[in-house]
Amino acid sequence: MAHTLPALGYAVNALEPHIDALTMTIHHDKHHNAYVTNLNAAIDKAPELANWTLGDLCRNIAQVPESVRTAVRNNGGGHWNHSLFWELMAPNAGGAPSGDIGAAITKTFGDFGKFRDAFKAAATSRFGSGWAWLVAGRDGALTIESTPNQDNPLMDGKHAVLGLDVWEHAYYLKYQNRRPDYVDAWWNVVNWGEVAKRYAAR
Ligand code: MN
Repeated sequence: MAHTLPALGYAVNALEPHIDALTMTIHHDKHHNAYVTNLNAAIDKAPELANWTLGDLCRNIAQVPESVRTAVRNNGGGHWNHSLFWELMAPNAGGAPSGDIGAAITKTFGDFGKFRDAFKAAATSRFGSGWAWLVAGRDGALTIESTPNQDNPLMDGKHAVLGLDVWEHAYYLKYQNRRPDYVDAWWNVVNWGEVAKRYAAR
């Protein structure tokens, strides 16, 4: 069963003005699609992986045959990360989180503003390409992490509840070298309802 590119749950211009339509189009239709295509090409060379889910591939990356491990890590990671990323954004979203996830953020970081500052620091200090993450432990404890390239917390056996793509392809058309401005704008489209669901499912 080949891996497939998921459709966006909203129009490409739905996140304007924070994330522009051309960036969304190229990011989803070209970049994400390339990860899917290249993942399927890698699995064609290692058919024993054909029945592994995308989550299996990330969680068990060390068990993937060495001949295709880097390709699966980069492209399976890219497919998993982007599939999550689209769901973590929505039009008419943003604001502050409420419920259990809001309470956990306040408990861990002091308040929502301090959480955003710490997350932004992780996102802007990641050298080169990668991701910033909010990770939840089984006990509900929250930590901020970042990963290089298309690595993700699942590869370390962890549960991501929020993730931000800080590859230049995610922001360069609109924000050029101003990654901090992209991070600031992104808070306006964070889909806290989806984050809350992921937090509950830890
Ligand atoms: Mn990306």
